[in-house]
Amino acid sequence: MFKKPTTCVGIDVGGTKILGVLNNGISQDIISEHKLPTPKDDPDAVVPQILKVLELLMADAEELGHPVSAVGVGVPGLVDHSGVLRYGPNVPGVLNLEIASIIRQRFGLPAIAENDGTLAALLEHRLGAASGHDNALVITQGTGIGAGLIMNGQIVRGANGFAGEPGHALIDPEGPMCACQQVGCWEALSSGAGLANIAKLLVEEGKALAIVELAGGDSAAIRGEHVAQAFEAGDSDAAEVFDRFATWVAVGISNWCALLDPSVVVLGGGLASISQHFIEKVEQRVPDRLLGAQYRPAVKVVPAKFSYESGALGAALRAKELFKTR
Ligand SMILES: [Zn+2]
Repeated sequence: MFKKPTTCVGIDVGGTKILGVLNNGISQDIISEHKLPTPKDDPDAVVPQILKVLELLMADAEELGHPVSAVGVGVPGLVDHSGVLRYGPNVPGVLNLEIASIIRQRFGLPAIAENDGTLAALLEHRLGAASGHDNALVITQGTGIGAGLIMNGQIVRGANGFAGEPGHALIDPEGPMCACQQVGCWEALSSGAGLANIAKLLVEEGKALAIVELAGGDSAAIRGEHVAQAFEAGDSDAAEVFDRFATWVAVGISNWCALLDPSVVVLGGGLASISQHFIEKVEQRVPDRLLGAQYRPAVKVVPAKFSYESGALGAALRAKELFKTR
């Protein structure tokens, strides 16, 4: 008899929202999805909110006649080899989160948790913009920066599982404060928060008035979305913010290329999807800082195939790969 496809849930715990998807195991298609806000000020409410998303998806799966067979969860930050989120600066107050084990105990389902950037990299490597590349760096620019490394065709995790956090490498000792409470991280200049920080620097120069207006007249309230809105409306100061932003993104990428020598760098997340022009600008500027750029093949910088769903779909794919034989 024809065996029903394996249905997996993937959940991505982000800095602002928790997104869950249901994947039927045949393709990359999402057959159902649910999204709830990440409780910002109440760390104890994060686990119940994740479980609520899971319950909604399990109800959908029952209704569709494909019960859930495994669960994958993507979490931002330092996730150890046993799937425990030790620390995540973009989910304040959440420490030592054992979400996979909670799901196993509560629902009796196989479950894994993994760094969200690693899952996005896995997805792009298996089915997306990094497929066919044995050495790839996948960067997701959202509230913070997520990243995943594929080297020699394998995910790189490091001694503790904590490899692949370029967002918190120092890039400007005089730079803005990062969510991790250190000054000058790459993330503080190259994520959504980075876009806002660069706009605030322009405000200090007496510029970016349209962006301040979009932020309700308060420059301290500027977020990446305000810069993107002003840019889309044709504001020249917003274009300047993006120009400086592209340089910082390129400086970071040239550093990681000096260290890792990937054949492709994939940029994902909300920012990369804004324009092909931005990606091209980054690609053009990477060689400016890269050792022996004129003597090595150009580093390709390409947009991710997947967007908002990459962490969640990557989590479902990982669960499917890990538990397929059980
Ligand atoms: Zn940092």
